[in-house]
Amino acid sequence: MGKLLAGVDLGASNLRVALSDGEKLLVERKERTLLTDPLAPSRQILSLLRSAVRERGGRLLGVGLASVGPLDLRRGEVRDPPNLPFRRVPLVKPLEEELGVPVVLVHDCSAAAVGEKEFGAGRGVEDLAYVGLGTGIGGGAYVDGCLLWGKDGNAVEIGHLTVDPAGRLECGCGRRGHWEAYCSGTGLPRLVGWRLKRGEGKDSSLRRRWEEDRQGLRAEHLFEAAGRGDAFALRVLEEVGRLNGIGFTDLVEAYDPSLITVGGSVALRNGRWILPPVRRWVRERSYNRPPLLRLTPLGERAGLYGAVGLIRREVRR
Ligand SMILES: [Zn+2]
Repeated sequence: MGKLLAGVDLGASNLRVALSDGEKLLVERKERTLLTDPLAPSRQILSLLRSAVRERGGRLLGVGLASVGPLDLRRGEVRDPPNLPFRRVPLVKPLEEELGVPVVLVHDCSAAAVGEKEFGAGRGVEDLAYVGLGTGIGGGAYVDGCLLWGKDGNAVEIGHLTVDPAGRLECGCGRRGHWEAYCSGTGLPRLVGWRLKRGEGKDSSLRRRWEEDRQGLRAEHLFEAAGRGDAFALRVLEEVGRLNGIGFTDLVEAYDPSLITVGGSVALRNGRWILPPVRRWVRERSYNRPPLLRLTPLGERAGLYGAVGLIRREVRR
């Protein structure tokens, strides 16, 4: 019987599960994350894993579990997540009890950094960082070849760096001025709304859309409008470039990476709008020597690959 490793990527929107032989992904499953009760995610992971193992055939040796944070690694749980409707989401214990194999929990963006180092653009690179610009914003980093974990597993939680000291927008975590509140998939529409409310963008297509349905305005609408040359959308993206530039520069000064890869749905779909202003900002303003900055070649699967990489390391010990 073939030996299988499982990688899981638990996000606030999507749950991905994959089986691997340690080198490539063999079977993959993706569903919307079920959030009916705190144990729903672990039940959903179990059911997806079991059906994947049945389909592929083989013996499961362990599970790498990348999850939306913040984490409490000692308890193996997600604790007070701003993007989930529960205080605690137990993961490691329910899965280990049911499966009888080791489960390694890791922050999703740290997992993506592992994926990059072991399967992606970071192979052979000792100092690298990953930035995920998606529904939220997060990061992961290796310094001197070591993955940074932190006391609870929440190192490089860069989405909650302050990029706007004036604190115009409130973050999902309840604090103001955080990077994620402005530049994530959920933050961008709020930034557009804030500026429209102040009377900007009188002729913008975004204003018409926003006045019809304020909740319906999405990040994609901003990028589409910019693509059509909408002056207001371009001004908003100028600010987004500045705020992203501040966040990336902080990362460069803190960890001195030689490579930063960028993933997450917002960046992957809109790289031509997101990356050039960040590169420019870092080149002009960072004190440390600027790193190479590119989109991740692993796309939406960076976290999944990282989860596999971590459990591969654990099982080989
Ligand atoms: Zn925050």
